[in-house]
Amino acid sequence: MHIIRWFFISSIAVASVCGDDAAAPQSGAKTKPAPDPPGITLDWIHVDGPYIALTFDDGPSAKLTPKLLDLLAAHHIKVTFFLIGENVAEHPDVVAREAREGHELANHSWSHPNFGKMSDESVRSQIRRTDDAIRNAARVTPTLLRPPYGSVTARQKKWINQEFGYKIALWDVDPLDWKRPGPNVVCNRIVRNTRAGSIVLVHDIHPGSIEAMPCVLNQLEAKGFKFVTVSELLAMETPVPPKPSASPKAAGAKPPPTLASPNN
Ligand SMILES: [Zn+2]
Repeated sequence: MHIIRWFFISSIAVASVCGDDAAAPQSGAKTKPAPDPPGITLDWIHVDGPYIALTFDDGPSAKLTPKLLDLLAAHHIKVTFFLIGENVAEHPDVVAREAREGHELANHSWSHPNFGKMSDESVRSQIRRTDDAIRNAARVTPTLLRPPYGSVTARQKKWINQEFGYKIALWDVDPLDWKRPGPNVVCNRIVRNTRAGSIVLVHDIHPGSIEAMPCVLNQLEAKGFKFVTVSELLAMETPVPPKPSASPKAAGAKPPPTLASPNN
């Protein structure tokens, strides 16, 4: 019941502010549900084993990200950072440290605009500049893109994948930490909703989100979860077994619907 209610709350949040940041544009309905090109978008991944991926968006923050890195190192945990190009250019040393310590670096645009409402040329520039900044800072070429607010059209997904080779990495667990509900709430929401194969969305630019992390890591570890990067999780993907009671047509169907996945 809790989970169902959470699905509902998350969906509302996504519809109203597009999921991953308070500064999301408020107006305009979500983009029309166009058919998604297969194999490009990730939100939850079917894996055999207790593997999950924590992801941190909108950084790096000069103040908070190093604190997070210290904590992750103490737990021997690798995560994925979805970086804002402007912040990468400002704090390349923090990004270099993220890479050095084994974390995955990924593209979250240059200045956090809404791709779904932009021209191809502007989207291309946002992606390319960030790609270049990450490569300059850490000598790493990202393979994952998370569009700000999860906003991207099916058509954009297709050409972004073809042109840059990026997969579009969304999430299935969203604690709405950008609303700053307090560390305990952030921790409880994550721990309650995370399951094997989850991609968890957090922001390393809010103090309360970082304060929630000791609780999150301790509790998820206590539940037996193992932490990997999104690319590692993707590499572990296994086919979803057919449901015993399903009709033959449903065999081999895609995974069950997941929560809070805009444009999906
Ligand atoms: Zn963001």
